[in-house]
Amino acid sequence: MAELRGGIDLGGTKIQAAIVDPRGDVSGQARQPTPTSGGPQDVADAMAAALREAAQGAGVEPADLAGIGVGSPGDANEQTGVVSSAKNLPGWEGSFPLAEALSKELGAPVKVGNDVQVATEAEFHLGAGQEFQSLIGVFWGTGVGGGLVLDGRPWLGRGAAGEIGHVVVKRGGAKCPCGRKGCLEAYAGRSAMEAEARRQHEEGQKTDLFHLMEKHGKPRLTSGIWERALDHGDHLTEKLIERAIEALGTGIASSVNLLDPEAVIIGGGLGIRFGERLMDPLMEEMSKHLFVDERPPAIRVATLGDLGGAIGASLLVSR
Ligand SMILES: [Zn+2]
Repeated sequence: MAELRGGIDLGGTKIQAAIVDPRGDVSGQARQPTPTSGGPQDVADAMAAALREAAQGAGVEPADLAGIGVGSPGDANEQTGVVSSAKNLPGWEGSFPLAEALSKELGAPVKVGNDVQVATEAEFHLGAGQEFQSLIGVFWGTGVGGGLVLDGRPWLGRGAAGEIGHVVVKRGGAKCPCGRKGCLEAYAGRSAMEAEARRQHEEGQKTDLFHLMEKHGKPRLTSGIWERALDHGDHLTEKLIERAIEALGTGIASSVNLLDPEAVIIGGGLGIRFGERLMDPLMEEMSKHLFVDERPPAIRVATLGDLGGAIGASLLVSR
């Protein structure tokens, strides 16, 4: 049997597991909702269950895998396997030895890494970034995450590189979910956009956004709801998307000025949904801020979709 690996993408709402061969082909996959109560051990149990189910689908035992990689939010230490302050997960303000706990449950070696960084590396090795040696991954979803590959190698900095969502696009600007002001994510992150839409709606601004959310039984403004409202020509939606694109163009161009990568890969829930459609306005916004504007980087939409995080996590095994 070819060296099969496990990959687990640990998200705030769902856990996605996959069994992946060295070429990136997926032979089994499973999905579990992320526990909303309890603590890190409960999350680890749900992750182990998802991985077991994916392994069953691929006809292998977890213990026979060459290894298992985990893409995690929060501060994921690749050396120690400890994950700290994953604040969107239940009871995870402190540190938890995730790699050790999972390895004990599943009987295979486990490595952890940053969720957005591993998704960026998946696009670099197997997706939209294959033809490039240097790229920035921009994951535009609930928040705005980023990952870096420079000269063919992941750039982690001291462990916290790639936080493009917290590049400042306006000094003293809008309040960011991180508590600071003027970050890119404060304008383009889906939760910040929802908060702003709610604020303007309460002030009397007309919009179909919340009506659509209720009609489709969603607990929040999902990327699908934003798309529907945009299709209907909802004025507030147009305004907020335009504001997000301005911020993305500014933040991405500033990062490009610093690193001069060959490509920018746009992923994430909103990125995949709107990437092609908003490519021209995004390029236009970027070009206003690019220092060397006659040679812009290639902009591509991520191609691995929903499984990209789990596939990327499996690549940690050979690192
Ligand atoms: Zn921030």
